[in-house]
Amino acid sequence: MNQPLEPMPDDWSRALAVVAHPDDLEYGAAGAIAAWTRAGKTVGYVIVTDGEAGIDGISPDDAAVLRQKEQVASAAIVGVEDVTFLHHPDGIVQYGSDLRRDITRQIRRSRPDILLTATPALTYGLGVGQRILNQADHRAVGIAVLDAARDAANRWIFPELLDEGLEPWGGTTDVYVFGADRPSHAVDVTGTLAVGVESLRTHRVYLDGLGRDFDPEAFLRGFTAHAGTALGVHHAVAFERIRLQGV
Ligand SMILES: [Zn+2]
Repeated sequence: MNQPLEPMPDDWSRALAVVAHPDDLEYGAAGAIAAWTRAGKTVGYVIVTDGEAGIDGISPDDAAVLRQKEQVASAAIVGVEDVTFLHHPDGIVQYGSDLRRDITRQIRRSRPDILLTATPALTYGLGVGQRILNQADHRAVGIAVLDAARDAANRWIFPELLDEGLEPWGGTTDVYVFGADRPSHAVDVTGTLAVGVESLRTHRVYLDGLGRDFDPEAFLRGFTAHAGTALGVHHAVAFERIRLQGV
């Protein structure tokens, strides 16, 4: 990531972040979310699964409850009160019309100006030979968010949502994707790095369950330093802006 990044526009007031698992937002994006809520913006979370398959030593029923609790607590630390779980099965989320409808429903309810999600790319990482396979749910959810962003504006896609009183919403202008290989914009998180670290630490049972040493502060400091250099600040989180309409 050597190219310069533009500051992310702040001419919006409402964002909806849609990701596959409890903790996906805390590996970087939460620092940006904290900066936005401090500036008076409203951010909601939609978590597609309960993350119930994420802890080897804890049964899915117990893990689902624990991970939802950790996610709600983690969201509160960065100023987010509105957290919705869609309860799709962790690890085997299927891309398709059910997933698109469930996300479209949340977009129409929330009526956000922008959406956030994580990269749906097949792989991510540094260089040739260093690529890491992106998790299956991340791939399915990222694509479904991009598609649902458009579905939300079309009255005749998922007309059953009209019966629920959910009118089309065409006010979302952009989807911001974090973890993308070709980011275009970034958010200065120098002032919110500590809250971002705290929000990641709040996934305590999950992090303990990984069974290896992991230092949230060292991770987030390193992760945000690269984008910081590209934005001209100490720490930043990078996003790729995907526009929903041509201008
Ligand atoms: Zn995940």
